[in-house]
Amino acid sequence: MRKIAIFGGGQSGLQLALGLQQNGYEVTVVSNRTPEQVFNGRVTSSQFMFHDSLQNERDLGINFWEKECPVTEGIAFTIPGPNRTKALFWEAKLDHYGQSVDQRVKFSGWMKEFARRGGNLVIQDAGPQDVDAYSQSNDLVIVAAGKGEINRMFERDPERSPFDKPMRALALTYVKNMVPRQPYTAVSFNLVPGVGEYFVFPALTTTGACEIMVFEGVPGGPMDCWNDVKTPAEHLAKSKWILDTFMPLEGERCREVELTDDNGILAGRFAPTVRKPICRLPSGRLALGMGDVVTTNDPITGQGANTASKAAAIYLRSILQRGKQPFDAAWMQHTFDEFWNYAKWVTRWTNSLLVPPEAQILQLMGAASQIPRLASTIANGFNNPPDYSPWWFSAAEAEKFINSLAAGAASRA
Ligand SMILES: Cc1cc2nc3c(=O)[nH]c(=O)nc-3n(C[C@H](O)[C@H](O)[C@H](O)COP(=O)(O)OP(=O)(O)OC[C@H]3O[C@@H](n4cnc5c(N)ncnc54)[C@H](O)[C@@H]3O)c2cc1C
Repeated sequence: MRKIAIFGGGQSGLQLALGLQQNGYEVTVVSNRTPEQVFNGRVTSSQFMFHDSLQNERDLGINFWEKECPVTEGIAFTIPGPNRTKALFWEAKLDHYGQSVDQRVKFSGWMKEFARRGGNLVIQDAGPQDVDAYSQSNDLVIVAAGKGEINRMFERDPERSPFDKPMRALALTYVKNMVPRQPYTAVSFNLVPGVGEYFVFPALTTTGACEIMVFEGVPGGPMDCWNDVKTPAEHLAKSKWILDTFMPLEGERCREVELTDDNGILAGRFAPTVRKPICRLPSGRLALGMGDVVTTNDPITGQGANTASKAAAIYLRSILQRGKQPFDAAWMQHTFDEFWNYAKWVTRWTNSLLVPPEAQILQLMGAASQIPRLASTIANGFNNPPDYSPWWFSAAEAEKFINSLAAGAASRA
């Protein structure tokens, strides 16, 4: 039986571990937190996932919370105008619903299930020397420890990492009693130029259904305001202040909101970074990186957990196809390249929204308010960002694309 060790019990690590286990591999997961610590700890993400990523979980039969978790049917985009108006607005249904299951619920549940099915769950805050030790007794070691320090084992790829500093001040606020969006549930995305972004959607947390508020403040701007927040109550008050000040229509939904729990808050920042996928260990053996370890994107497009899920699916397929042959450097590079073929579009698209937008992006967002098929195409692209190529990235292609959809709309009228 082939033996595989995975460092990090998160979206990619546990999804891959559960998939390998089902295929008869002997799998070890090293996690720096117990399932109970994860469940009772602080939120880590807003973890909104789109159809194809959710399908990866269904395919493995590990979509344990799908029936309980509220569904999100669409995406809405607003640039607020003066006096509670909308300077720009569009909304579109997703072809298939998305969902967000609090990672505290999902990872603790998956870890327990992995152990129940006979997996070797080791609780240890692992360092590079531990990865090296496991590489001796396993056929393959994968590091999937998210944004943990251990990811520094993998060299930053400067060509694929255009930013060397955080591009947004991030915060999360998990709340209950928010007025539901009408006419259907959606990721309600709001952009205040020069200030930042706010998006909100339904989710399932440790205490049941909730809404997750995500704040993305431009560094140094008025939404970069979390440093002096000391208590959960202050965090909630600051969240409401941002909405009332910059997005009062969203503020109106929040008159009665309360935190789901004192750990339902987070504030921080990180630089989006792509790393080289293979690390040579002191022994000379190799480790392969997966998920955020090798590709960390800003959450502005809600892609990290989706991309981690897609990475796990690609790595699973590649490991199974490898059969009994060695997991050598060429195989590792090939596996990552297959992933990067997808992820490069996620990174490029996400990064395009962290800087003042190119003219064609403004044109596309404006045209989407007039052309429902364009709104629908942009909304559904979140499920598969390669679909944004080439029109998101080129003025000429954007114009062609807008004209073709507008002509289609006119001929149907
Ligand atoms: C504010 C915010 C909002 C987000 N919103 C979204 C969203 O809406 N949609 C989306 O798709 N993505 C979102 N993300 C990103 C998403 O959560 C991550 O990209 C995703 O979880 C990465 O998966 P992963 O498997 O690489 O790592 P993770 O899921 O982070 O798992 C890594 C695990 O490794 C463990 N670990 C760390 N170091 C060690 C160590 N030394 N030894 C052992 N274990 C270790 C950690 O405890 C953790 O459980 C958001 C992120 C943030 C910060």
